[in-house]
Amino acid sequence: MSGLLEPSVKIEIEIQSQEKNGEACPVATGDVSINLENRQKAIDKANYGPMNPNESNMDYWRQISKVWRNSPEQAKKSRCGNCAAFIQTTKILDCIESGLDKGDTEQDAWAVIEAGDLGYCEIWDFKCASKRTCTAWVTGGPITDDSEQISQGDTYGND
Ligand code: SF4
Repeated sequence: MSGLLEPSVKIEIEIQSQEKNGEACPVATGDVSINLENRQKAIDKANYGPMNPNESNMDYWRQISKVWRNSPEQAKKSRCGNCAAFIQTTKILDCIESGLDKGDTEQDAWAVIEAGDLGYCEIWDFKCASKRTCTAWVTGGPITDDSEQISQGDTYGND
């Protein structure tokens, strides 16, 4: 009656607020199931892939290029590694590393391939690999310590 929230809801709100203020690691960096859930959303809704970027994956790049109305060769140039949603600041990389240290090995086929090549996707909220992409790709990334300083308070530009 007094409008009190369930403890779990309070904790979730607190975590979100800390994430917003940059005080806490994003939940998906330390929680395998949330990371997998969010990665699956990126796969289902935005064709995140390809599973193994070291292969030619022509079918995959044709699909992506159709969405972007360019050629597969052009599409291949737009990857998580240069997406404006791809965060590779020291803080995020520390969060990813501490999640892995805690046993977040997430050893499925996707994860084995992406080892050592990770950042955090702030659109889909999961750990993504720099050589992959998705149809939500945005020009202007990645977000690093340097770019964060330069564009504090700014959107991650299209210039
Ligand atoms: S939004 Fe960007 S960083 Fe996130 S999965 Fe898509 S291409 Fe990668």
